[in-house]
Amino acid sequence: MTDAVKKTNLLGLSQGDLEQFLIARNERPFRAKQIMQWIYQRAVDDFDLMTDLSKSLRAELQASAEFVPPKVLQRFDSTDGCVKWLFSSGSGQAVETVFIPEADRGTLCISSQVGCALDCSFCATGAQGFNRNLTSAEIIGQVRHAIADLPRRGNGEAAISNVVFMGMGEPLANYRNVVPVLELLVSDWAYGMSRRRVTVSTSGIVPHINKLADDCNVALAVSLHAPSDELRDQIVPINKLHPISTLLDACWKYAEKRSNRFITFEYVMLRGVNDSIAHANQLAELLKDKPAKVNLIPFNPFPGTEFKRSSADTIRHFQSRLRERGLVATTRRTRGDDIDAACGQLAGKVSDRVKKRLGDKSIGQKTTGDEDIRISSA
Ligand code: SAH
Ligand code: SF4
Repeated sequence: MTDAVKKTNLLGLSQGDLEQFLIARNERPFRAKQIMQWIYQRAVDDFDLMTDLSKSLRAELQASAEFVPPKVLQRFDSTDGCVKWLFSSGSGQAVETVFIPEADRGTLCISSQVGCALDCSFCATGAQGFNRNLTSAEIIGQVRHAIADLPRRGNGEAAISNVVFMGMGEPLANYRNVVPVLELLVSDWAYGMSRRRVTVSTSGIVPHINKLADDCNVALAVSLHAPSDELRDQIVPINKLHPISTLLDACWKYAEKRSNRFITFEYVMLRGVNDSIAHANQLAELLKDKPAKVNLIPFNPFPGTEFKRSSADTIRHFQSRLRERGLVATTRRTRGDDIDAACGQLAGKVSDRVKKRLGDKSIGQKTTGDEDIRISSA
């Protein structure tokens, strides 16, 4: 009896990897474009239906390739039009994906990891610890499923116009699997989205911000949340490794490579922690005369958290102060309340809660998922 051949999952392969797969089978590399169109644009996953491929290539694909999307466990519909899907990530764990419809756009918020190692003190995903990186297939599979599961808008446009990596996990800690997904999102042979409509949100893994600028310069959002290292060290522990000045330098370089398009700075409003007018002044000072806009996020509580949301008045005053100081500042509207779909509330269901604390010298160095990023206490 011969050993079964391990099949390659074509979902999530970058164009380059798909071309290599074909070359290794003596096929012409341009077939990759056709296969990508079938998978992503026509949502076909049966190789026999890919009729512009030769019979022999289809037979080869049947023998050595497969198509394995992530398994959908559940769909939740909010009364405000938001939709949340729960995808299985194996061993009783799950990740979440959220669709947020607005008048002029439809945003899909996707997950990149099961849990997160970075342990920001106000985040439900961080509270569960890191479990594992999602594969490219599991990440792009969220987009593919959502597209198929949502009706087109009234005007015939696709439901999803924007994709943001603001679900569970730190995308730049899963760099090698996230970059092929970014390529597929913007590729003319896959989803063909504008780079302005794809946003990576990061808490500040500086070496990978620098790399991303060269590899796939999509829009960047940075979770700043505090205007001083003293405060940021406490609520965003990665700051001990990459402090604010280093982070902002990387941001301005990134913006320069994108013709000075704005970087969005996310700032979660935590009552009595980072929400005073003095904090607003400090923040304005940091970002003045730079290609920056600030998005204030009212804190979304989750079971067990000690933080509270700043009052609506405090958020308004904070935003006004930023605007008086010349910054572009907006406040994110909280959506999908009835299905727990808001920022920072996504917790999936992780049975193996591996709590990893940053800054705990007794634990020492640990990885965030990519072996090449080491995190240690400063
Ligand atoms: N790891 C990435 C992306 C996922 S989190 C990052 O940190 O940027 C997406 C956004 O939600 C981040 O700005 C994050 O700081 C914010 N967030 C996390 N917990 C939150 C909470 N409980 N309430 C409001 N926003 C939260
Ligand atoms: Fe991780 Fe982002 Fe949550 Fe921080 S805010 S713990 S980086 S998912």
